Amino acid sequence: MVKRLMKKADMKVYKERLLALRARLRGDVSAMAEKALRDTGGESSTMPLHMADAGSDNFEQEFTLSLMANEGDTLQRIEGALERIEDGVYGSCEECAGVIPKTRLNAIPYTPFCVRCAEKLQS
Ligand SMILES: [Zn+2]
Repeated sequence: MVKRLMKKADMKVYKERLLALRARLRGDVSAMAEKALRDTGGESSTMPLHMADAGSDNFEQEFTLSLMANEGDTLQRIEGALERIEDGVYGSCEECAGVIPKTRLNAIPYTPFCVRCAEKLQS
């Protein structure tokens, strides 16, 4: 079967993203927590945290953090994606061997399936 494969240079970009993601999930939680705080801080970061309207921001940060922590099998998927990069087949759907759109890989760099197959497998 002929596969349309992603360029090596493009794979390298995703490899670095996956490695960064893996580092976070492997327990570099403090760095991630810091990032979450920075990302939502913005220009208001100098404001005191006890201000009344800081509540919703804190909730969103906690939500982000628990979301990351709950992704139990994400680490395994990341390992799988890194293996596919090594094999040079990253970016092809494991189910139908079709091309996984980059927009999807940008959102979920460790997904082994195209949108159609992911939906099919979920149902
Ligand atoms: Zn597919």
